[in-house]
Amino acid sequence: MPSLANIAKVRVCSICTKKIEGDATECEDGHPAGRPSKEDSYFIELPLEPQLKMIIEENLSEIFGGCRKQVLECTEEASSYKDITDGTLYKNFYKEVHSESGDRTCCHLSLMISTDGAPVFKSIHCSIWPLYLCILELPSQKRYSVKNVLLIGLWYGVKKPKINSFLEGFLCKIGMLETEGLLVYNKWEDEFVTFKVHLHCCICDLPGKALLFLHKLYNGLFGCMVCFHPGVRLAIRGNVRVYPYAGDQYEMRTSEATRQHALLAQLSGTDVFGVKEFSVLHNYMSVPDGCPVDYMHCILQGTGKWILSAIVDSKNKDLAFFIDADTQRTINAKLQAIAVPHDMERKPRSLEYIKRWKATEMQHFLLYFGLPLLKGILDDDHFHHLAFLTTGLWIFLKNEISKEELALAGEIMRSFCRLMEPLYGERSETINVHSITHLEEQVKCLGPLWTHSAFAFEAMIAHTLTGFKGTR
Ligand SMILES: [Zn+2]
Ligand SMILES: [Zn+2]
Repeated sequence: MPSLANIAKVRVCSICTKKIEGDATECEDGHPAGRPSKEDSYFIELPLEPQLKMIIEENLSEIFGGCRKQVLECTEEASSYKDITDGTLYKNFYKEVHSESGDRTCCHLSLMISTDGAPVFKSIHCSIWPLYLCILELPSQKRYSVKNVLLIGLWYGVKKPKINSFLEGFLCKIGMLETEGLLVYNKWEDEFVTFKVHLHCCICDLPGKALLFLHKLYNGLFGCMVCFHPGVRLAIRGNVRVYPYAGDQYEMRTSEATRQHALLAQLSGTDVFGVKEFSVLHNYMSVPDGCPVDYMHCILQGTGKWILSAIVDSKNKDLAFFIDADTQRTINAKLQAIAVPHDMERKPRSLEYIKRWKATEMQHFLLYFGLPLLKGILDDDHFHHLAFLTTGLWIFLKNEISKEELALAGEIMRSFCRLMEPLYGERSETINVHSITHLEEQVKCLGPLWTHSAFAFEAMIAHTLTGFKGTR
């Protein structure tokens, strides 16, 4: 990662969030710039080509291997799902690319991008939004390591990034690399090779996706970016929208329709099926296919945590699923007595801290500890329901998922979602629970869930924050 200390930051207008160039006294739209203040937002663009070139050169033989596999396998449907490159999004894209004559002279790389807001300074409500990128043709064990993930941009300030100005410079470079390509020296053959790139998918939590693609948030009408479920607004205090289980009643969104809706929203000035405006990203990747549900936020920090919090919350003491204080103490004692293998970095913490559990703690609980600990404590209905979530997730996260297993996991997860309301009430039918119904199709499109989750970028965020604080 290049040092952040030597990189120019661009100030952003506090009214329209467009650039204020150098010492200019006004922004591109003519708003007065005023004196720099703590309330300002900035963005930093980091060099893309040199970083990309370095990673390609360092991993050249493996990248060539990935590119060869891409050409050889793009025309055949995967018999099972082992990686993101077995998904239909990848195969269909390259089937088209490699059928065009003349395109065999260069190699093609697919990029995954990710962004998420992280708070930086305790004193003010300032957050950073780093933009990361990784190369899918690298083998999965190397793809997500801190060494091979690029930091290509950073937004910081009190306001959230305005996406069209945040991404403009980066997407312009991507456009160049898509058509012209990047020349990389191949020391083995003493020749230059052209690499063309394209944006394959984007990993974010729900607010991040809404921000990037200028879609309404999930508490708004048509807040699901995958299908046309409008949601139902609950008649309680606050703006709570739920997505009651509806089987296949609502159609899936297609990338073509989403693009049309975005264009229409831009022209008319009103939102169309939840799409508020045209995002520049629509020109570079397909939505919803390339913009998947992140299971780390959806299941681990979302639905899994929701259920576990509900069953230990004394507000629910009169409900069937509630676990009383004495039983909770017994579970906590058992949980903390578990001797974990060395590759599980965290020892299990007591359920008292459930709100602060990290995603990995939740993953370990759901996949390994939860069912044995809760057997005989939760009633059968709630226990089997939780077992659906564990089993479905376990299959979606396998290293290799057969088509039969995937269909089974889809069925199990749909049962889980359908039973949510009868077991936990109408408020439990959150967007996260609804999103689980989309995961089977998502695995077909993008491979096992671990290949496209925010876990890949978690270590990077800590790394970036350390570097960032050092430059202030
Ligand atoms: Zn302005
Ligand atoms: Zn949906």
